[in-house]
Amino acid sequence: MSKKLIIGNWKMNPSTLDEAKNIIRKTRTAAGKLHNTNVVACPPFVFVFSAISKRDPDTLEVGAQAVSFEEDGPHTGEVSAAMLKNLGVRYVIVGHSEERASGDTDDVVSKRVKAVVEAGMKAVLCVGEKVRDEGGTYLEALKDQLRNSLARVPATAAKNIILAYEPVWAIGAQEAMQAQQILETTIFVRKVFSDVFSQNQAMKALVLYGGSVNFRNAHEIMIIGKVDGFLVGRESVNMPGFVELLKAVDAVAD
Ligand code: PEP
Repeated sequence: MSKKLIIGNWKMNPSTLDEAKNIIRKTRTAAGKLHNTNVVACPPFVFVFSAISKRDPDTLEVGAQAVSFEEDGPHTGEVSAAMLKNLGVRYVIVGHSEERASGDTDDVVSKRVKAVVEAGMKAVLCVGEKVRDEGGTYLEALKDQLRNSLARVPATAAKNIILAYEPVWAIGAQEAMQAQQILETTIFVRKVFSDVFSQNQAMKALVLYGGSVNFRNAHEIMIIGKVDGFLVGRESVNMPGFVELLKAVDAVAD
């Protein structure tokens, strides 16, 4: 059985370097005690350097929340894939709904995924419907979003893509999506990935769920939703909740 994967998306938190170091220290200690689960922390850019341990880069891997699709040059405020890779970053979140809401189209997302995998990192590609309708039209929208977000990505890079199914209405919400619905929709997401690349690649791909996961619901979603892990927002900077979440996931994978 492959290891579960928990990715913490810190979003725009915390406010100080000291707090960031504290979260990293606690997360790394907790991650070091797990047997069946890999953990990735994605802090804001300004904290990425101090989150990477040169001595022990594997216990807690580090990711970034954003990346430019440009290689270099006059792009004020941007950070390239090469910069991240050379720093020791291994994962980049791409296509998050908050970035899509700020203007990222599927085509832009596709360019970012391509830049990330070509630089030798893993792209955590977020997809998810804004709303659910009884008729199931949202499945078509989800399919289009995923296909279009992969349009520029060569088939050889499929192994470096992690799929994060994040229904927009469940992000930052009170409740996560129901575990049974998570099961059904992540099967659908894997099927679309299979159609774009191959069944073999799709079976090997990790499909995560994201949207209001916390230490209370993680166990049930893992068991019923049968996901390969989680993309966790708020709870990833909430100690000791995140530590409890990691333990809950690791226990399921046992
Ligand atoms: C996210 O931002 O990707 C996310 C899942 O957030 P939250 O866990 O806070 O809903």
